[in-house]
Formats: sequence, C-alpha cells, structure tokens
Amino acid sequence: TYVVTDNCIACKYTDCVEVCPVDCFYEGENALVIHPDECIDCGVCEPECPADAIRPDTEPDMDKWVEFNRKYAELW
Ligand code: SF4
Repeated sequence: TYVVTDNCIACKYTDCVEVCPVDCFYEGENALVIHPDECIDCGVCEPECPADAIRPDTEPDMDKWVEFNRKYAELW
C-alpha cells in the first residue's frame, strides 16, 4: 500500500485524489489519507504529489504512517 506522510499536512493540492483509480483517499484532520486496505498499490498518485508526501509502505519506518492513514480513513 501507499501512505500519506507528514509533508501532506496543510497541503492544498488534491492531484493525488483525482488520479486514484479506486478512490481510496479520505480527508483527515489536516491531511489527506489513503485507506491501506483499499489501495491497490498502483503507484499512480506518487508522482502527482507536489509535496512528495506519498510513499510506499515498503520504505523504512512506515508503520506509524500506515496506522495514521488507517485511523483517519476508517472514520469515514
Ligand atoms: Fe490510489 Fe494507486 Fe495511490 Fe493506492 S497507489 S492511493 S490505488 S492512486
């Protein structure tokens, strides 16, 4: 799965939301989040993010970001 990380906070761009083929972006408190169970790992959103906030969860130390994304995505 891909996850939104801290560079997204207070970012106003929604380019990522527009390209996601499965609409798995949700609005968190002050950042967008990706539902980790709905993301199909296509990677299309990553280069669209002007803040470089979208990362694959295979990078180191992503566990807390997966939980952050899940927490806010599941509020919807
Ligand atoms: Fe959506 Fe693909 Fe990005 Fe996952 S990787 S959030 S499915 S655009």
